[in-house]
Amino acid sequence: AKGLGGARHQVFDPAMRDRVTTRLQLETDLRWAIVRQEFFMQYQPIVALESGRICGFESLVRWQHPRRGLVSPDRFIPIAEETGAILPLGRWILDTSIAQLHAWQQQFSQDAPLTLNVNLSGKQLFEADLILELDRILARYPIAPGTLKLEITETVLMENATSVETLLEQFRARQIQVCIDDFGTGYSSLSYLRRFPIDTLKIDRSFVASMGIDRENSEIVRAIVMLAHNLKIDVTAEGVESEEQLVQLWAVQCEYAQGYFFSKPLDADRATELIGSRPQW
Ligand code: C2E
Ligand code: CA
Ligand code: CA
Ligand code: CA
Repeated sequence: AKGLGGARHQVFDPAMRDRVTTRLQLETDLRWAIVRQEFFMQYQPIVALESGRICGFESLVRWQHPRRGLVSPDRFIPIAEETGAILPLGRWILDTSIAQLHAWQQQFSQDAPLTLNVNLSGKQLFEADLILELDRILARYPIAPGTLKLEITETVLMENATSVETLLEQFRARQIQVCIDDFGTGYSSLSYLRRFPIDTLKIDRSFVASMGIDRENSEIVRAIVMLAHNLKIDVTAEGVESEEQLVQLWAVQCEYAQGYFFSKPLDADRATELIGSRPQW
């Protein structure tokens, strides 16, 4: 009874009520946001540390809300997952991102064609139509083999281990790469790294952030890179903000890095300009 009373008290807390109202409003607004064309994608460069050049991008969704301004994906993606709005939104994200990758590969012919990482939510992963949808998009926007990378978190992988296996095989058959996002923050067992066909690990930015400040964290990063390399898996460090972090990542032979040190996420036009300017770090 004591617990119930506490809960009731919370519901009538005005700050809580505001949050609930806002959330309900966002839920409703999300349903219309696609048709109203309020979403757009930004692209953050991923740099190959060996050459210091841009090798690809991660696409990140943005919601320009008519009254609230920019709403963070950390805020609306979880709501979209709960309400199911993530399914049409996820399709739109894949379609828009792959169309952009196709356009870039047409415009910039390089020895190694640009790659694109697209985030997949757990819900989206188990939508019956995902593979069909991907095939349809890839038929419309043909891209170089191996240049689409889907980012999945380790929690999503582990919670659905049996069904995931089939799905990852289907990705592999299409030369779609698989990247584990936020590596190190989720599941504690590493056995899935052997079990599943995984191409890249993305070291969570919380580890990268404390590199240099904290010796133990530098050691964790080094251990992750060594583990991945033993399993023939590439490593991307996310959230790289300083030269010092970069130096350490270079020293442990981490393949790729991404973060404000190089560039924040950019609108498509700005990203295209950046590719054209061929920056080198
Ligand atoms: P994430 O996939 O881990 O994306 C990386 C986040 O780190 C992005 O935040 C990016 O802007 C931010 N970031 C990049 N470099 C730095 C840095 O140097 N320092 C710091 N402090 N942050 C950096 P963003 O765009 O706000 O996205 C937040 C999360 O929302 C993403 O985390 C992802 O979980 C989700 N999300 C974003 N776009 C999508 C999408 O298209 N689909 C799905 N399913 N989820 C998405
Ligand atoms: Ca990601
Ligand atoms: Ca991440
Ligand atoms: Ca994250």
